[in-house]
Amino acid sequence: MKEDYYEILGVSKGASAAEIKKAYRKKAIEFHPDKNPGDTKAEEMFKKAAEAYEVLSDPDKRAKYDQFGHAAFDGSAGFGGGGMNMDDIFSQFGDIFGSAFGGGFSGFSGFGGGGQRRVKGSNLRIRVKLTLEEVANGVEKKVKVRRKVQADGVTYKTCPTCNGSGQITKITNTILGRMQTATTCNTCGGSGQTIDKRPAGADAQGLKVEEETVSIKIPPGVEDGMQLKVSGKGNGAPGNGIPGDLLVAIETLEHDTLKREGDNLHYDLYISISEAVLGSSKEIDAIGGKVRIKLEPGIQSGKILRLRGKGINSINGYGSGDLLVHVNVWTPKELNKEQREFFERMQNDENFVPKPEKSDKSFFEKVKDMFS
Ligand SMILES: [Zn+2]
Repeated sequence: MKEDYYEILGVSKGASAAEIKKAYRKKAIEFHPDKNPGDTKAEEMFKKAAEAYEVLSDPDKRAKYDQFGHAAFDGSAGFGGGGMNMDDIFSQFGDIFGSAFGGGFSGFSGFGGGGQRRVKGSNLRIRVKLTLEEVANGVEKKVKVRRKVQADGVTYKTCPTCNGSGQITKITNTILGRMQTATTCNTCGGSGQTIDKRPAGADAQGLKVEEETVSIKIPPGVEDGMQLKVSGKGNGAPGNGIPGDLLVAIETLEHDTLKREGDNLHYDLYISISEAVLGSSKEIDAIGGKVRIKLEPGIQSGKILRLRGKGINSINGYGSGDLLVHVNVWTPKELNKEQREFFERMQNDENFVPKPEKSDKSFFEKVKDMFS
């Protein structure tokens, strides 16, 4: 028993065309194979949603479906039997997502002039690990990519099955009369071309794998999990097709002493009790080199010193974050006799009695400040 098309898209029987389009767009994004690699269940949902949309978006087909249910399409080519194929689904995307969504994992990028489509090669994926310094300043990475390219000496000819149109038109007799459907040509996969001369070492599409060094410009401020796209550096396509893209997943490595939070960096500075009392000057390993900071005599533990502009350059190009130095006063755990006597004498000394000033904000107030 086939599922109800309205239920697949999660709309009511009376849904408007706009509601159906919106519902389908949501499903297509959710179950897109690029987002769910290797997940056959998602792929099935993706296909089901496309099939449902194919029918419900067409007033004619929708009327027939409303009247006869799935029986309306039994025996007709296209989706009656085995469902839609991926190429048909991606070709549908033009009017759903606009050109920005062109192409699928190995899909086609829209229609050419006469119904012939330019085949797009599949995307390749790599992962790039970046240090915090590379993230902060941006970096150009050279990576070796094994990608399919058209082999030397390969030639292509017009597809004999579809005569170059990329499509096969079928006319089927149904209880509702003659129906004409166009499907992608199986011989050429829709490109309108097939291989003519296939050099040794090339696959059935005339492609062979080659190693290429690709330069990837990574802008400052990228975050862990982000994906960059290098257009045209994925696998090549046969004939006059265009290559897919290289998708670069960003992975950021932890830094020994600096912690990132948005564009700001945090550093925990530990000072001795005497440095806190007498004042001190400390060197900090910041991005781009050492920074010397001055600690005023009497500095309180928990104080946060803000070094403006010493954080991460913002990814949208608007300035950069700050380096926040958290001051921690180290209390000695062991004392010799002399030291113990000194602190015992200071126990009730006026200077050692805590006298927090209004400007000495509590830890919680400081945290609140940092996020506001
Ligand atoms: Zn063909």
